[in-house]
Amino acid sequence: MRVDFNVPLDGSKKITDDKRIVESLPSIKKIMENGGRLILMSHLGRPKGKVNSDYSLAPVALRLAELLDCPVTMAKECIGTEVMQQVLALQDGEVMLLENLRFHPEEEANDPDFSRELASLGEVYVNDAFGTAHRAHASTEGITHYVQTAVAGFLIERELLYLGKALQEPERPFVAILGGSKISGKIDVLENLFKKVDTVLIGGAMVFTFFKAQGYEIGNSLVEESKIELALKILAEAKAKGIKLLLPTDVILTAEISATADCHAEMITAIPEGMIGVDIGPLTIEAYRNEILSARTVLWNGPMGIFEIDNFAAGTMAVANAMAEATAKGATTIIGGGDSAAAVAKAGLAQEMTHISTGGGASLEFLEGKELPGIAALND
Ligand code: ADP
Ligand code: MG
Repeated sequence: MRVDFNVPLDGSKKITDDKRIVESLPSIKKIMENGGRLILMSHLGRPKGKVNSDYSLAPVALRLAELLDCPVTMAKECIGTEVMQQVLALQDGEVMLLENLRFHPEEEANDPDFSRELASLGEVYVNDAFGTAHRAHASTEGITHYVQTAVAGFLIERELLYLGKALQEPERPFVAILGGSKISGKIDVLENLFKKVDTVLIGGAMVFTFFKAQGYEIGNSLVEESKIELALKILAEAKAKGIKLLLPTDVILTAEISATADCHAEMITAIPEGMIGVDIGPLTIEAYRNEILSARTVLWNGPMGIFEIDNFAAGTMAVANAMAEATAKGATTIIGGGDSAAAVAKAGLAQEMTHISTGGGASLEFLEGKELPGIAALND
């Protein structure tokens, strides 16, 4: 089973957040409880194809043993005769963890021989690592060519259920909230969502490219000059398709991006030269909140402002709160994107959302409508 055990480690190789291990437990326990002999594999960090003990998965094996309350055999390698001997010694219901796949350059190169060696260790392949499913690597895609049965685990199943349903048959009204730093990073998501959404709420830095396109003064706010035409095209397309696309009516302005800088709200028609837009304003928060609360499906990707700085986080926190309220009212609420998930965690609302995607890049590519090779390769 391919899992995502790419956990953060501190200097003394202590795991600082075991969320990814904990989230993998349902699939792991299912196999062990059914008497399977479980071989787990993962990458950790970026060892760049070389053995590097700083990136050993040994601390993960120890933590997993604690969580499962049973021994976890740690292999010194991920392929080879010694690993094969350890595999053959496994009893029903026992579990072992292979060493970091990325100690071998063949993993990311999707090398067929390496894939075949990994496949030779087992009979059934399970992929439960959504975060790497958008990459065709030996342990995600290559291996499926050398096993009969290749299936998704519970984590991937859940991602496909929620992200997939939103894209295919969302309960309406379907509201998408898009923010973050760049239009260029979200344009493909926006285009794909245009096929299904009723309403789009725009926040983050990309609003200033829209405002500039509409002829407003935007001061020193972030702008993508090369995307101004695209912004106009998006506005026209929304209109033609009858999609309600909302832009902020007011924003939070500051003279400098720092934790101690002053800031205040201003209408978007009155942004002075030199000022920087860093969040959506209170009128916009109210309008967006109302849209979110009237939705049956809400999909959020990209913070509304520079939420890493508390003074510029109100818009992002308000969206998180409104989504939590919407969930309580029975709406399906979905978060995609690493920074958006971090913002929800910061708001202490992670438990109040229907689904928070575990894969930053993978969820983005999925929302863009791209096929994820690690998922396309599975039988079921
Ligand atoms: P996600 O990871 O959820 O997909 P992105 O990576 O696209 O989100 O965007 C997150 C980043 O966007 C955050 O670091 C945030 O500071 C930045 N951001 C949001 N609004 C602004 C803004 N007005 N100006 C500059 N950066 C912004
Ligand atoms: Mg991000």
